[in-house]
Amino acid sequence: MAITRILIANRGEIALRIHRAAHEMGIETVAVHSTADADAMHVRLADSAVCIGPPAAADSYLNIAAIISAAEITHADAIHPGYGFLSENAKFAEIVEAHNIAWIGPKPEHIRTMGDKVEAKRTAGALGLPLVPGSDGAIETTEEAKRVAAEIGYPVLVKAASGGGGRGMKVIPDEASLETLVSQAKSEAKAAFGDDTVYIEKYLANPRHIEFQIFGDGRGNAIHLGERDCSLQRRHQKVLEEAPSPVISPEERERMGGIVSKAMADMGYRGAGTIEFLWEDGKFYFIEMNTRLQVEHPVTEAITGLDLVREQIRIADGKPLSVTQDELRFSGHAIECRINAEDAFTFTPSPGEVTSYHAAGGMHVRVDSGLYAGYRIPPYYDSMIAKLIVYGRTREGCIMRLRRALEEMVIGGVKTSIPLHEALMQEPDFLNGDYSIKWLEEWLAKRQ
Ligand code: ADP
Repeated sequence: MAITRILIANRGEIALRIHRAAHEMGIETVAVHSTADADAMHVRLADSAVCIGPPAAADSYLNIAAIISAAEITHADAIHPGYGFLSENAKFAEIVEAHNIAWIGPKPEHIRTMGDKVEAKRTAGALGLPLVPGSDGAIETTEEAKRVAAEIGYPVLVKAASGGGGRGMKVIPDEASLETLVSQAKSEAKAAFGDDTVYIEKYLANPRHIEFQIFGDGRGNAIHLGERDCSLQRRHQKVLEEAPSPVISPEERERMGGIVSKAMADMGYRGAGTIEFLWEDGKFYFIEMNTRLQVEHPVTEAITGLDLVREQIRIADGKPLSVTQDELRFSGHAIECRINAEDAFTFTPSPGEVTSYHAAGGMHVRVDSGLYAGYRIPPYYDSMIAKLIVYGRTREGCIMRLRRALEEMVIGGVKTSIPLHEALMQEPDFLNGDYSIKWLEEWLAKRQ
């Protein structure tokens, strides 16, 4: 079955990103949108558009019945879920496939397994990936939690099996506070995710976040596209990402990439995926797998020359991977800055009308954004409004170009995180590539 019309079940920059890949392949697009997004750029550019509900995501972008109806009436033969919203909803993937619509994503059973972090860890361990030491599965009793924590040593981290987006985690400093914190974590997990399953993990003191991009064809072939370093985080949310990581050697990339791609091949994984690790003292520890395209995928595109959305569409269409591991070459360095509509240093959201807009340009500068002058940033959704992705032959060259590109960006009328990125580009630790997942919050605290 050849895909001819893709319904894009998302909004914002990623909806536009998917539209662009589709049109470059000669495939038509259908935008779906809430009433708050009627004027969005991807809605304007898509071949057709269907309003699927009011602003609240639960009634629109998460409204499975409305999205399937939109696909039926527009005769879409494939659905791309983007990231967030329904992208990691196994039930949605099954419903899409049951309607004979191609699901541009992994097999539903793999989405389900990796969506449960306890199951994911068990599977990763069985596939030979190194794990963070911790409980063997869910924690049932306080006695068990105490025993595991004593074994691995404090501090430990209690995490929700259904957690995501950096939520549902608590650091337990010592045994005295364990019982209270575990029960707090359970009730918070129940409230946020409808599931109070928790597990315990060693709390790593000062790791980096390093993730591998992988692709599988669903028939036992898989490749890796190298790593991304996403250690610059605030509240477990990524702020800036780079590829390659300043601390991973080509030999280490090849060794670890080989381990992850073999694991994915053995699993029969289909489509794009990201295997996330913490990295400390030269060792990798698996934390989770994301069964979707990531926000930060363009840095991988920049250093490999592959279009990851095109690759996803090809695989959903039953085609083989377009490159073999041996053909793939990593070259140069890329950095992505996430630009949010918020105060750069207090992080207070700043929705509203964009009064003027000018995107940076020039050689090796890419801006993924649905912004335009006169656009109103709705207050209902994620605050990320643009991604600035810059490539250079070397990391130093990339940073020089990024400074220049940040200077050029104009987003008037709202506050943005551009000043934060400009400040980071002057920081010796960042320039030296010397930062962990703790670095940004410590740096922000010092600025106060
Ligand atoms: P989520 O699905 O919510 O993003 P992750 O398991 O990917 O959760 O963890 C998000 C972030 O939390 C990581 O990037 C890291 O900063 C921190 N983190 C997770 N596990 C640990 C750990 N064992 N030790 C220290 N930090 C951790």
